[in-house]
Amino acid sequence: MPVGFGGQVLHVPDDRTGGFQVIWKPATKVVGVPYDTPVAGYRVNTVNTLRLWAARADQEFDFQLFNGGDYLRAVEAKNASEVISKVLYPNDSFEQGRELRLKQEYFFVACSIHDIVWRYSKQHKDFSRFSEKVAIQLNDTHPAVAIAELMRVLVDEHRMEWEEAWRQTVAAFGYTNHTLLPEALERWPVSLFQRLLPRHFEIVQEINRRFLREVMAFFPHSPSHVGRMSIISDGHGHEREVRMANLAVVGSHSINGVARLHTDLIKSHLLKDFCELYPERFNNKTNGVTLRRWLYECNPALSSLITETLGDDGWVTDHRRLAALEPAVDEAEFRSRVRAIKLENKLELSKLVFSLVKQRIDPHSIFDVQIKRLHEYKRQHLAALYAITLYLRAKRGENVHPRTFLFGAKAAPGYRRAKLIIKLIHSIADIINQDRRQSAVRVVFMPNYRVSLAERIIPAADLSEQISTAGMEASGTGNMKLAMNGALTIGTLDGANIEIREAVGEDNFFLFGLDADQVLARRRERYEGKSALEGHPLLAEALQLLRSGFFCPEERDIFAPLVDDLLGYDQYMVLGDFASYERVQDDVDKAYRAADEWTRKCAFNIARMGGFSSDRTIREYADEIWSVSPCVVPEPRDPALGGHSDHDPI
Ligand SMILES: *Cc1c(COP(=O)(O)O)cnc(C)c1O
Repeated sequence: MPVGFGGQVLHVPDDRTGGFQVIWKPATKVVGVPYDTPVAGYRVNTVNTLRLWAARADQEFDFQLFNGGDYLRAVEAKNASEVISKVLYPNDSFEQGRELRLKQEYFFVACSIHDIVWRYSKQHKDFSRFSEKVAIQLNDTHPAVAIAELMRVLVDEHRMEWEEAWRQTVAAFGYTNHTLLPEALERWPVSLFQRLLPRHFEIVQEINRRFLREVMAFFPHSPSHVGRMSIISDGHGHEREVRMANLAVVGSHSINGVARLHTDLIKSHLLKDFCELYPERFNNKTNGVTLRRWLYECNPALSSLITETLGDDGWVTDHRRLAALEPAVDEAEFRSRVRAIKLENKLELSKLVFSLVKQRIDPHSIFDVQIKRLHEYKRQHLAALYAITLYLRAKRGENVHPRTFLFGAKAAPGYRRAKLIIKLIHSIADIINQDRRQSAVRVVFMPNYRVSLAERIIPAADLSEQISTAGMEASGTGNMKLAMNGALTIGTLDGANIEIREAVGEDNFFLFGLDADQVLARRRERYEGKSALEGHPLLAEALQLLRSGFFCPEERDIFAPLVDDLLGYDQYMVLGDFASYERVQDDVDKAYRAADEWTRKCAFNIARMGGFSSDRTIREYADEIWSVSPCVVPEPRDPALGGHSDHDPI
């Protein structure tokens, strides 16, 4: 697929229609090469195609430059093209204004839109049934420029009327929002967008012009609505920007969040104005995870017990059958096998921990696990602070149940505070693990956290840390993986935690902390962390030790900025939630000692988490957004008979 960038847009009179024909003459072209990965269904005779694209130069190199002796410049254009598909930006929030990132987004979008339109056109003579046959789901705003690209292809290349092209576009697109963090919403400077995609900028302006007429008609006496809802910001002294979330919302018939609370907050805060204008577009699709990977594959011992208890392994493809485990929870034999499997998995993880970080950990200690990207809103530093206080209590001879804090996390390369929190966890681990005055508390930071490591940690977890500041985690999926493997959650009322707690039962979930409304109220009052120290000498002591360099003698001031920020106005409410967190962690300590009762709670988690299967989620997308119904999978053919499948993707 040829993909253009930059260049000129010509508006030439069209004798046939009496209007204008728009011709985009790109300055440079790149070739998109498809690579197909077959995705085999589980024990069915279907193979779907995942089509990915690589960027290739449209010319190997410039012979004129080469013959003139300028060998480096001769390959420059080739390198500039091919770098487009070479790197994945490792940030989890938006990378401010990076030209290569916008090039990537357009490159992948242009290839896929071209492919979709080409395939549709093979079977249809016009575009009147396009949105009936095609569904395009925007997975966050990263591919939102696809809305402008489809309009360009339909209007400029296929000469459709604007109104009909727009009807088909809006009916084909859906947008899934993944974050409420304002810094993660993509915005591109107009100068960059216009230089790279001059025709798309014109199209965005036209979409916006028509949209703002609608806004003015709907909110007739409110110029502030126009300012807030415009796809192109008016700058106010800053450079004007294209707001990709606004484009995604205006160009999609469905807008969804990924957990009930998240969708409610989108409707009441993030996209409130849009929800007033288009209430019928907004809906929720609570995330799920695949049981095939996150239970069946990663936890074979527990899977065998489930299969044996239910009589067959139908639960692997029908999550609703997990609920039939419920009666077994009351059988002592079942519980003792659940407990034995967890212990065996913890023993295996202990060996892995030793091989990776040369630290011995006790499989009978509480495996207290926090594994997720490192971000202040996820509050790894809240768990680290609790680990310090527990260490101080153990050192004083208090009877704390042995506990191993296991952390795994990567930080975005430029996120300095996140990297300081990783350093904090390593520093407290160094001091706590070698202090011979106590042996109850251990802290481990597992390097290179990734899916294959998650698959080893999750089956061995006792406690799942889901402690984000309420209102900030869109859904979470780690929370689901851990609960379905029989870890109990300690968590806030945030993201999917709320729905998990409803599913597994309040008694089988450790709830703490402020809720989303209370967090907003405290922010309005400019709550300061230092007020949490009153009546809490242990917390004050932990912070004092951190500040004084006790945990990092070689660089004693290193954590001072972190402590100072926690004591001042901290939007993440780490100290504001500490006392509640500590109280509930002490409940965990007590509950874990009642081993059989603890295991009952684990077993209820396993039996009641089936609803968080991604099969349920995907079916909801199919039914409620894409309007596609299941198709009958053809019987396996005898390979000896040869021939092609009806589902050949080409
Ligand atoms: C599931 C998963 C995540 C998401 O974890 P959250 O706790 O939901 O943020 C991140 N990284 C890896 C490797 C995962 O497997």
